[in-house]
Amino acid sequence: MAQYPEFNPQPRILLGPGPSNVSPRVLKAMASPVLGHLDPDYVALMEDIKKLLRAVFQTANEITFPVSGTGSAGMESALASLIEEGDEAVVGVNGVFGTRAADCAERLGARVHRVEAEWGRIVEPAQIEAALKACKRPKLVAVVHAETSTGVLQPVEEIARLAHQHGALMVLDAVTSLGCIPVHIDQWQIDACYSCTQKGLSAPPGLAPLTLSERALAAMRARKSKCRSWYLDVSMIAQYWGAERVYHHTAPISMNYALYEALRIVLEEGLEARWRRHRQNAAALQAGLAAMGLAFVAQEGHRLPQLSAVAVPAGVGEAAIRTALLRTYNMEIGAGLGPFKGKVWRIGLMGESSRRENVVLVLNALEQLLTAAGVEIARGRALAAADAVYAQSA
Ligand SMILES: *Cc1c(COP(=O)(O)O)cnc(C)c1O
Repeated sequence: MAQYPEFNPQPRILLGPGPSNVSPRVLKAMASPVLGHLDPDYVALMEDIKKLLRAVFQTANEITFPVSGTGSAGMESALASLIEEGDEAVVGVNGVFGTRAADCAERLGARVHRVEAEWGRIVEPAQIEAALKACKRPKLVAVVHAETSTGVLQPVEEIARLAHQHGALMVLDAVTSLGCIPVHIDQWQIDACYSCTQKGLSAPPGLAPLTLSERALAAMRARKSKCRSWYLDVSMIAQYWGAERVYHHTAPISMNYALYEALRIVLEEGLEARWRRHRQNAAALQAGLAAMGLAFVAQEGHRLPQLSAVAVPAGVGEAAIRTALLRTYNMEIGAGLGPFKGKVWRIGLMGESSRRENVVLVLNALEQLLTAAGVEIARGRALAAADAVYAQSA
């Protein structure tokens, strides 16, 4: 097997938009023996996963389980299960992931009202309200909580209120928010929400936690046509995750072991403590980036703690710096997407990756590489700014 050597990847410091670093506890859980998907011991684990997911989503929703597939499968599952041909959908579009939700809803037969905001800005509730008023019978409103392409944190409570005022369901993309920042499904009255395993929860990619309210369930039951997706039809998957245990597809067993352990870690730390850790490390990173003279893409007051998008300084090779970070410092950060390609870096501090040592490492590495690329930076100022944040909050 000389031409096929064993694959032994070097562990990296993952500071991109996901995946984030995975705890050894989670990796160990994945090495446990594979059980059958209807094995009583596995079924007991499924019940515990639902309970832990409800705690992390802050919900009492009965329908709360991981969809097989990454975050995008969660998006498609939620939208496909709710949308019928001709339904009106109001979708906030201020980055890549809102664009995708609009595209997905359209492919499922919805008449989509795109509510656009400049990339880097939030979608204003008043814009959503205007779109709702322009609809005859809006079926749903969908927005992205944490727009990973720009680093914008979208306020959602008021939009949920507006959606319900107009008789629409509220759908939330929490792919980059769950496990990093507060997500209050019941308190905010979110009807459908999906996430992923590889960002705030720090498990490998492969599952999409999903939760649906009673209101969303009622809409699903009232469908006149079958869900357009067979694999992602929540009403069928729910029969496997519910008491009936009807086989639908073989569950990704080992990924569910990983999710269970990752959720245990989240709740051991405690949601409040975890959100605080993300806020504190982000404040230090963002103070350091600003001290280096880097400009943020997201508007002030609406910046995500778990992802900072900054403009690449003029004359600096965007990809060259990322390659040097990887080769010299063993560290991954993200590139810009769509119109931000070649213009933006995205630095993630998600889940396990949100640590003080990573903040110090990435600031130091960036400072060295940018200085070598000819950018004038007062060496040490970024770290001093980050230190000051930690000193203040100590
Ligand atoms: C990453 C991401 C997705 C897509 O998730 P995948 O796991 O890559 O399929 C969707 N929405 C947002 C906001 C994301 O950041």
